[in-house]
Amino acid sequence: AVPPELEALQHADVARLLPVPGAESDKYRRGVVGIAAGSARYPGAAVLAVSGALRGGAGAVRYVGPAADAVIARFPETLVSDQGPAKAGRVQAWVVGPGAGEDAATVAEVVAADVPVLIDADGLRLAEPAAVRGRTAPTLMTPHAGEAAALLGVSREEVEGGRLAAVRELAGRYGAVVLLKGSTTLVASAGGQGAVRVNATGTSWLATAGSGDVLSGLAGSLLAAGLSAVDAGSCAAYLHGLAGRLTADGAPVGAHDVAAGVPAAWRDVV
Ligand code: AMP
Ligand code: MG
Repeated sequence: AVPPELEALQHADVARLLPVPGAESDKYRRGVVGIAAGSARYPGAAVLAVSGALRGGAGAVRYVGPAADAVIARFPETLVSDQGPAKAGRVQAWVVGPGAGEDAATVAEVVAADVPVLIDADGLRLAEPAAVRGRTAPTLMTPHAGEAAALLGVSREEVEGGRLAAVRELAGRYGAVVLLKGSTTLVASAGGQGAVRVNATGTSWLATAGSGDVLSGLAGSLLAAGLSAVDAGSCAAYLHGLAGRLTADGAPVGAHDVAAGVPAAWRDVV
């Protein structure tokens, strides 16, 4: 049983929330998601974030960053740009941070954008707290326990021992929706008040490198398609967990397999 302060997202809720293109839809109306991720050292994080984004319901994925060649080699449908995020062209929601290394300038540029932004991984460390708090468009932060601990200035064990309090505290401090990853995923509304959504569709086979990068792209795509930050985060966690479960089916898988399993999870939901 789920304690009253937690709210389990049901299959039917997800089915209702997932975007379906109307007969009159075009790729721009479906939403363009921008991915600002990857570095010379971590090009794969960019590829994985794009892989998640392509399965998340946006009509187009735009990539900015140093891993464009790797992204295009794997996903030729990606729009790439050699400009920074501010000049990259139309984007309805941004994902910033996976594999970003030390590129604080790109993180700052995305945080300054007046569209929904998802901040993950290195982006969580590089983003200026005051700039995040000052945003007017929705913000979704997606730390795992270690990243949440670093943001709060406490130990990882403290976060693990009080995950509900930690996710609420972060959502309050940043005025952002916070999605705390782990064996279950908690999603707190901006400000940290009210019920916290919990997702338990995952499997421990998801504890594998790059898994979170796929989630960030998936959630970013749902943001670009028009879902609220709470709905985008919780639907992405639901689909990602289910994709991991269906794809792994009791055997080890890589993060790219999880991304490839998202369409089957989506079909299972709708
Ligand atoms: P990251 O640590 O950023 O790569 O993200 C890992 C992803 O895998 C998140 O979506 C986690 O919720 C998920 N995950 C990690 N460990 C487990 C686990 N033991 N059971 C279920 N999901 C997990
Ligand atoms: Mg991660």
